[in-house]
Amino acid sequence: MTQTLAPSCSRSTAAMFTGLKCKECGAEYEAKAVHVCELCFGPLEVVYDYEALRQTVTRESIEKGPNSIWRYRQFLPVETDNPIDVGTGMTPLLQANRLARRLGLKRLYIKNDAVNMPTLSFKDRVVSVALTRARELGFSTVSCASTGNLANSTAAIAAHAGLDCCVFIPADLEAGKVLGTLIYAPTVMAVQGNYDQVNRLCSEVANTHGWGFVNINLRPYYSEGSKTLGYEVIEQLGWELPDHIVAPLASGSLFTKIHKGFQEFVKVGLVEEKAVRFSGAQAEGCSPIAQAFREGRDFITPVKPNTIAKSIAIGNPADGVYAVEIANKTNGNIESVNDQEIVEGIKLLAETEGVFTETAGGTTIATLKKLVEAGKINPDETTVVYITGNGLKTQEAVQGYIGEPLTIEPKLDAFERALERAQTLDRLEWQQVLV
Ligand SMILES: *Cc1c(COP(=O)(O)O)cnc(C)c1O
Ligand SMILES: [Zn+2]
Repeated sequence: MTQTLAPSCSRSTAAMFTGLKCKECGAEYEAKAVHVCELCFGPLEVVYDYEALRQTVTRESIEKGPNSIWRYRQFLPVETDNPIDVGTGMTPLLQANRLARRLGLKRLYIKNDAVNMPTLSFKDRVVSVALTRARELGFSTVSCASTGNLANSTAAIAAHAGLDCCVFIPADLEAGKVLGTLIYAPTVMAVQGNYDQVNRLCSEVANTHGWGFVNINLRPYYSEGSKTLGYEVIEQLGWELPDHIVAPLASGSLFTKIHKGFQEFVKVGLVEEKAVRFSGAQAEGCSPIAQAFREGRDFITPVKPNTIAKSIAIGNPADGVYAVEIANKTNGNIESVNDQEIVEGIKLLAETEGVFTETAGGTTIATLKKLVEAGKINPDETTVVYITGNGLKTQEAVQGYIGEPLTIEPKLDAFERALERAQTLDRLEWQQVLV
């Protein structure tokens, strides 16, 4: 065991979480590095004292907090007053008027975690929470099973916190995701297999090495970080809930935690209750949750992933059934889109809003478009779309679909000729569109 005693971190006098509880049978557990119920194998979830939260947290106290996810510290499962704060969270909520007009919506917002700090995906939220808790629980080595972004976040934030780090990824990941992990000098295990095989291997390592795996034995803490994507949207909409959200689904955790975040702020009186519809997005090449939703099943049939959307390619999603449940109960939908639609989604968001997202974001935008076209999003609904990762990390996905620069000699007439040619080409394209 490399587990050592926790460094003397300053304890808050009033941590608001009280322990863990099985989501299935309700059995209670101490807030240690455990994630599965011993009685029924259900997932464990963090429990809070909502009455205490109602009495201590106000809109004003949150607004006075740090400009990061730690402004919601009382709603996160950590005891310290000095969490690992690398500026994660409080990303822009953009009003997407041009994309809205293109799709025929009235009020559309993009929650832009393509620019989340420090590694440009929403995973920095969950890892900041997991590593803060890992330190409290006395782990000196942290690890994860990753589809790419999680490895980036774990390696970066572990470096900042001075923790040893060993991450596991599928061997066929995009170059940008691999480089974006190696730069922080962790140990990187590139496993010859898909994510689900990586995950299975990590479950065994977690049992034998005593490491803190952010998405395995620390999963109850890690997953709570995604609630901040719910809190921030409420705050950024002027302390109101939206009518409809669209988010990508890998394990389904992010989706269910946005829902939990919304419910918690209602429960403690920070926002007025409202029915919010939850719609999820998957890539057709890995869509076990969308398939279950479509067929009205309450169980997931695992699939073997085959899609360019590697960051959300989980064939056996741990929180899939809960995601289906939320989509059903909120009158939402779960849809899937093919790889070509994903590329078009990436381009559409870039061309209309100036946001360059990765394949997961392309999946979400393409799903948004599909839902609107099918009449499953009402034009009058205030809709928030979650963009969870940055396009610079998956450049190979759009290579060959984005035109080329006009190479010219450094002369004015060369420029004029090239410009003329470009404008003619533009006109021709428009004529083709009009035919
Ligand atoms: C991990 C990831 C998701 C979804 O994660 P969940 O497992 O469903 O919580 C979505 N988008 C990106 C870019 C990701 O890296
Ligand atoms: Zn149980």
